Amino acid sequence: MGSNSRICEIDPGSGFCHGVVRAVTKAEEFLSGGGCLYSLGAMVHNTSEIDRLAGKGLVTINLERMAALGEGDTVLIRAHGEPPSTYALANERKINLIDCTCPVVLKLQRDIAAAWRTVSAIGGSVVIFGKRGHAEVNGLVGQTRGEAIVIENTGEIGSLDFSHHIELFSQTTRDPGEYVALKEALLQHTSDVTIHDTICRQVSSRHRSLAAFAAGHDVILFVSGRDSSNGKVLFELCRKHNPNTHWVEDPASLRPEWLTGARTIGITGATSTPRWQLEAVAAMIR
Ligand code: SF4
Repeated sequence: MGSNSRICEIDPGSGFCHGVVRAVTKAEEFLSGGGCLYSLGAMVHNTSEIDRLAGKGLVTINLERMAALGEGDTVLIRAHGEPPSTYALANERKINLIDCTCPVVLKLQRDIAAAWRTVSAIGGSVVIFGKRGHAEVNGLVGQTRGEAIVIENTGEIGSLDFSHHIELFSQTTRDPGEYVALKEALLQHTSDVTIHDTICRQVSSRHRSLAAFAAGHDVILFVSGRDSSNGKVLFELCRKHNPNTHWVEDPASLRPEWLTGARTIGITGATSTPRWQLEAVAAMIR
């Protein structure tokens, strides 16, 4: 079948989430004024978008480099948020902050801090379903002076202390289905648990629409940086609903044989994949 008879559709639900759009917009606004802006960690898990922003003057740094900055320097806190220790460092070094913590993450940080104050007084624990070492999770654990317990899957439930009350939260971008399974498994061990539904609504509704999008095409091209944790979750979701799902890091990594015999091609990506990158992949196919 010739490429002209193919239908190539970009997932209407794809592109940056609200939190990332807000952070990128704030960074671009600042950079348009000509100043130097440092981002603490990669603003999005997407190399092409980072390169685009670097071209405008954004410099990505780590905590060590931030500690060497001082008065007059400006650091952007990305949508994932940061633990209180980062704000203390900025204060100590007199660094100006542009805080782009997503409001959804900010609320989760506050809820975790409040829950921890309550349970720590009675010997209970705060448990976070998330990826250890992920920036958002580090920011969440920081609300509990490092005492929250992070579990990555149902298999780790056995290590929890069920003799006291548990407050369970989830990282905002976890798989909603896995969180349901984890909650059910936890309830087999204890009823003394408060379960907070803290997966971002944008993520959970995206899961539902993406499953239908993946099932509705012959081939799915999933465009994302390899280190995006949300990308890994959404890629697996697509593959579950369509085995002909392929990971595309950039248009150059497209392989023509993936499209052999396909009449409909769906192009989608992670919440950190910019719309322009999906359009570049579609343009290459067309
Ligand atoms: S996925 Fe949701 S919570 Fe996370 S940054 Fe985006 S909008 Fe905010």
